[in-house]
Formats: sequence, structure tokens, C-alpha cells
Amino acid sequence: MTGPGTNTYLVGGGARNEWAVIDPGPDDAAHVQAVLAAAPGPIRWILVTHTHMDHSPAAPALQAATGATVLGRAAPATQWQDTGFAAARDLQHGERIAIGDDCTLRVIHTPGHASNHLCYLLEEEKTLFTGDHVMQGSTVVIAPPDGDMRAYLESLAALQEEDLEWLAPGHGFLIARPQEAIRLLVRHRLHREAKVLSALRDLGPAPIEVLLPRVYDDVPERMYPVAQRSLLAHLLKLAADGKALETGGHWQAA
Ligand SMILES: [Zn+2]
Repeated sequence: MTGPGTNTYLVGGGARNEWAVIDPGPDDAAHVQAVLAAAPGPIRWILVTHTHMDHSPAAPALQAATGATVLGRAAPATQWQDTGFAAARDLQHGERIAIGDDCTLRVIHTPGHASNHLCYLLEEEKTLFTGDHVMQGSTVVIAPPDGDMRAYLESLAALQEEDLEWLAPGHGFLIARPQEAIRLLVRHRLHREAKVLSALRDLGPAPIEVLLPRVYDDVPERMYPVAQRSLLAHLLKLAADGKALETGGHWQAA
């Protein structure tokens, strides 16, 4: 599910010519060598958006090669996590990392895709490194329990308060007109949520397998395992909103 692969970004420069790596990627020796070769100066920071296996596992190898400080947030004890990830300390929401003159990264906690997900805003260029919070060319997977649809939509809403010029996602190309892109993402999720509610009203009480083909009538059947996780995420959000309830594996509108 990584599309064309994971993007690794080098951010920095200026008089000190020091660099931060955002998302070193999977533990792949050739990739680490490529990052080292691409760095125009010493790498002082390794920043991680979250600890899924395609984003953080190269951190130890890159740290061994550079002596850089690894920063991010510890992996939660759920599936698909880089449990070996070790940050020097957990980054706080709102904290600023001064990479150099005119190069400041502000940490924005964006739970949803992952509970420990951070975006990094390059304030001087209004460019937001979004990791898997916003991807280009594909929909972000929200897989409970660590994935949380309610938190995801709240995190998107918080970004709508920011002055942004570019999104630099963890997968795909740079995204222009960020606020338009974020609005479309929110609309897409709310449209799906409306389909879930209508399925609950027509079919409920029903198990998730019965709701699935109705809510995801626009996706091919081979995508159903992924779609089912998203459906569960929507149902849990609706339950938290007081609009759905579950009894003995059967869901219905509240
Ligand atoms: Zn991820």
C-alpha cells in the first residue's frame, strides 16, 4: 500500500548547511546509501512522521552513519509498527525545531492514520510534510484500533486553520492548493459516512460483512479486506458521535 514507495525528504541548508531527514523509510541499505549521497551537508536530525514499517525502520542505520538525533514519537503496541524505533525524546505538539537560519519545522500532532502521527510544517515556506496524514493519489487507510476516523477528521480540521502553500506527502507527488485538497478529503470521508448511515438505516441491525458491499459498492471486491477496516473506523466514529450502536456484532443506527 505504499504506491510508488515512501518519500524521504531532506530539509535544511543555509549558512550552517545542516540537514534534517524526514521519514528515512524502510530499512534498506541501498536506500540509506542513496539518502547519504543526496544530502548536500551533514545530517543532524532524523524526523519520523509515524512508526509504520515503510517510514521509520531506516532510522538506526542512518543514525549510525551520521550521528544524527532521532526524533518522533514512540510506537504504540499495535499491529504493523516499527517496535524497534527509538527516539531521543518524544516530540510535543507545537514545538519548533530550528534546522538553520530561515528553516524552522513546527511539529503538528495529527492522530488518525496512526495515533503517534506527526506532520512537520516548514514555516518559512508554508510547506507541510504530511507523512501518511495526506497522501497524493490514494486514500489514507484508517485501521482501528490505532487508526481513528474521528481523530483523523479532527486532525484535518485543525490543518484547515493553517496557512499552507504546499503539501509534501509521504507517498506521491507534492500537492498544490492544500486547503482545496484537504476540503476534498473531508468531503470524501463525510460522503462515505453518509453511505454508512444510510446502510445502517436500511439493513441494520447487521454485521459488518453485510454492510460492506452496500457501503463500498464503488470498490472492487479484492479491496474488501482494506475497505472493511475503513468501515469499522467509520462505525466506531459514528458510535462515538452517538449515531450508531453495536450489539453482539450487529450494527444499527442509534
Ligand atoms: Zn502509515
